[in-house]
Amino acid sequence: MRGQQHIQISVFTGLVLTAPFLLLNPTASVLLLVGIFIGSLLPDSDASDRTAKHGDSVLFAFDKINEVFIYPLLLRLFQEKKRHRGILHTVAGVATFSIILTVITGIVFLILNIQFNFWLIGIGLFIGGILHLMEDCCTLSGVIPLYPKYHTAFKGEIATFNRKEKRPNQFASYLAMLFVALVVVQLFYDIAFLSMIILTLMAITLSWLGFFAVCRVKKICK
Ligand SMILES: [Zn+2]
Repeated sequence: MRGQQHIQISVFTGLVLTAPFLLLNPTASVLLLVGIFIGSLLPDSDASDRTAKHGDSVLFAFDKINEVFIYPLLLRLFQEKKRHRGILHTVAGVATFSIILTVITGIVFLILNIQFNFWLIGIGLFIGGILHLMEDCCTLSGVIPLYPKYHTAFKGEIATFNRKEKRPNQFASYLAMLFVALVVVQLFYDIAFLSMIILTLMAITLSWLGFFAVCRVKKICK
């Protein structure tokens, strides 16, 4: 999937996820969303041409650390060769870059005396990375998310560079509308916080299952 589509789907899923908290704690929600935005592109640090390479300074910095430090470390650790959609496109890869980049972010915040909760960015990085894997599961090349423990691949119908392919953009628009609907529901109806969280989680789960179905995602056991 293309970089812009990764950003759109991940950030709008993130907005839906933070909908119950957005008005209660906007700062925490924004930190989480910043993490999701950056994390949504980081698995592609294994690709030569990628959106994050041309991104703004913060995104570029995270991507560069991932490419020159974390990715080679993962290759060594898992005794893998460099390849797009390899170890960086796994849950293990996403967890590793999220932990290391969270620690680095914490140190930078400490040095610069920034008082925000850096770990919220770290959680966002992980969520963004996992969403990236879910999005790539919908493409023809697919991913093997639980490699090296399990070799099951997930592939769909989305051809990344087919300009006529509208499904990812349509899903992003749908998520944006879902986010607005959830905010409106909170503003005009008296719904308990816990009920709102359950409603949000159900909405995200059903939406993503629907997107997998629309993209005809298949499980391929090897
Ligand atoms: Zn990817």
